[in-house]
Amino acid sequence: MGKLPLRARIATSIGGAAGRVSRLTGRGDGSVIGGVLGLRVEPELLRLLAADRQVVLVTGTNGKTTTTRLITAAVGALGQDVASNAFGANMEAGLASALGRAPTAPYAVLEVDERYLPAVIKATKPRVVVLLNLSRDQMDRAAEIWLTARRWRQALTGGDECVVVANADDPLIAWAASAAPQVTWVAAGQRWREDSWCCPECGSHLRRDELGWRCGECGFARPPTRWVLNDDSVIDETGQVRELSLALPGRANRSNAVMALAVGAYLGVTVDQALPRLRDVRSVAGRYTQVERHGTKVRLLLAKNPAGWLEAFDVLAPSPGPVLLAVNAQTPDGKDTSWLWDVDYRVLLGRPVYVSGERRIDLAVRLEADEVPFELADGIDGAVGRVTGGELDVIANYTAFQQIRAALGRAD
Ligand SMILES: [Zn+2]
Repeated sequence: MGKLPLRARIATSIGGAAGRVSRLTGRGDGSVIGGVLGLRVEPELLRLLAADRQVVLVTGTNGKTTTTRLITAAVGALGQDVASNAFGANMEAGLASALGRAPTAPYAVLEVDERYLPAVIKATKPRVVVLLNLSRDQMDRAAEIWLTARRWRQALTGGDECVVVANADDPLIAWAASAAPQVTWVAAGQRWREDSWCCPECGSHLRRDELGWRCGECGFARPPTRWVLNDDSVIDETGQVRELSLALPGRANRSNAVMALAVGAYLGVTVDQALPRLRDVRSVAGRYTQVERHGTKVRLLLAKNPAGWLEAFDVLAPSPGPVLLAVNAQTPDGKDTSWLWDVDYRVLLGRPVYVSGERRIDLAVRLEADEVPFELADGIDGAVGRVTGGELDVIANYTAFQQIRAALGRAD
């Protein structure tokens, strides 16, 4: 902190004070307002706060928050402080706040909004950039993600001392990352393929087989990988196989964990040092933890887009465990719910399915079309009232998730 120029020091302290006021007055956790004010005083704040740190940036459509948490846990093995925006405030102000709150931390692990990655790379000069996956989100449909990949490609082309850790199984990610001078490729898997039937290089149809994907026209193909997710195991760069045995559920989280191990290795954390720390992560920003509600164990899963719903289905308790689906369409969710038609709900057949949220009727129509029986429920308590004991999994999109979390009185 002592090395910061005067204006940046003032900007940081104003930002910190505003954050504290914001928390005290109950206007949120203060992680954004502090950064907003700080940047107003010193527009270069992010660059100044990131200087002389080892910065890891994490981006992708899904899994950013969890992967950021897992990498932070792994890097903790080095015994030094790690700055991180653990609650997902992932634009410039949130990043400046996270760094301002940990002025002496030599490491920073930062989740970055997909659209801001090029600007944040420029400002923070990261040592590692992690590219997880890229698929349609509720707000930016298919064309937008191709544009995003193109911008990433341009941002990664520079000759900076930076390694990219990228998922080789996602063709769009592979295309964006392949522009970087140094890439560590990870076989992290890809379940959602609706956004990657075409070659990002030439637009031809991609072929897939057990070896991965390849373009028959231009030859662009899945790069050879150094880290592999294989069921519940990780195969590291040396070929050694270890069970992951995470507390976090689901294939998507195992994939996030392998990415975290690859980043850790680059920063000097061995797999044996990192794994116990990854296994200790049980909940990420309110997700995955079980909460008792009127005698029912409720587990919250966040899913914001079609690929995210597919991964959430994978995490559900075994059938016939009941599930509540909650969908809103406020601004953070995207107003358009047509993405509901991109998800195949037939995997829910055989379970009691409850439907709530502001857009429950849209969801009901969608389930009708898939011939999945369901009942409308009045919020979380409506569903809990019908489950009567036992367990209930909840899959909700962004604001529906926050509403249910508030109703359950959860802040963690
Ligand atoms: Zn091609």
